[in-house]
Amino acid sequence: MRAGDTLAQIAARFGVSLPELMRLNQLTNPNLIAVGQRLLIPAETNTQVLPTGVTLAPQNVAQGETLTLAVAAPDATDMQGALDKQDLHFRRVGDTWYALAGISRCANYVGNFPVALTWRDAQGNAQPMQFDVHVNAGAFGVQDLTLTAQMSALLDPAIMNAENALVGETVGAFTAEQKWQGKFRLPLDVKNPRISTTFGERRSYNGGAPGLCGHEGTDYAVAGGTPVYAPAGGVVVLAEPLKVRGNVVFIDHGRGVFSAFYHLDKIIAKQGQRVQAGDLVAQVGTTGFSTGYHLHWSMWVNGVYVNPSQWMEQEIP
Ligand SMILES: [Zn+2]
Repeated sequence: MRAGDTLAQIAARFGVSLPELMRLNQLTNPNLIAVGQRLLIPAETNTQVLPTGVTLAPQNVAQGETLTLAVAAPDATDMQGALDKQDLHFRRVGDTWYALAGISRCANYVGNFPVALTWRDAQGNAQPMQFDVHVNAGAFGVQDLTLTAQMSALLDPAIMNAENALVGETVGAFTAEQKWQGKFRLPLDVKNPRISTTFGERRSYNGGAPGLCGHEGTDYAVAGGTPVYAPAGGVVVLAEPLKVRGNVVFIDHGRGVFSAFYHLDKIIAKQGQRVQAGDLVAQVGTTGFSTGYHLHWSMWVNGVYVNPSQWMEQEIP
């Protein structure tokens, strides 16, 4: 251990999960590590071996990505399960059962994580299935921000916690119907807009240590008043001013997938409104915790922040 190292950073550097590293070194508290202390690092940690009929996309998933689990089970009448602590919601297409999982971007979410599934056969018998998914480290940069006193005041835990609870509740409401079709579109009609902060970029405030979890979305630096369009079909589930995130629009795309736009100027979409890809929902602003005009786009799968770019590049089943 060197001064300033945290166990979570070491785990991420060597591609092991924090629980694995703690187990191997018989540690009970990740915060009680001494400088100069020697740690055992597992040599080969990727034990991802998939049972017959199970496929993952991407096959080698990384932090911040959306993982699609596909299970070929023509005899199953029902399928349930979880990836680590995340409940999976399966839907059947032909003989294959599909579930989406959000893979955390936080530095401690690297290594092997268990998937435990139970499906029912035609006779109603429960059939268990277990395997590991190996999460590879994401390549996230570090950005240093200098905060004004007014912005620092917004980082007040009381304000943050209340707002985070509302956001958590909003994106935790699962609706089964898939409301999107095909790839998502860029929510702006601007050619190659400049990205000012990428998804997962870790921020240090006024020279402090960077946080464990990086940027919760993608920031596009575009002019104030630029129209913001729905990236895919869905239902507007929150459209109101918040203290930290500023004026927001949240869209439920179904199956646990959500988009949100922050720091908006004018909110155009109404709560409860059904939208299609390309519908005008707002205008770019700089409201809330913001240093200038930009569009912040967050996405979640099962309440976990995921990288929106993947949804524009790939059609996710
Ligand atoms: Zn942002």
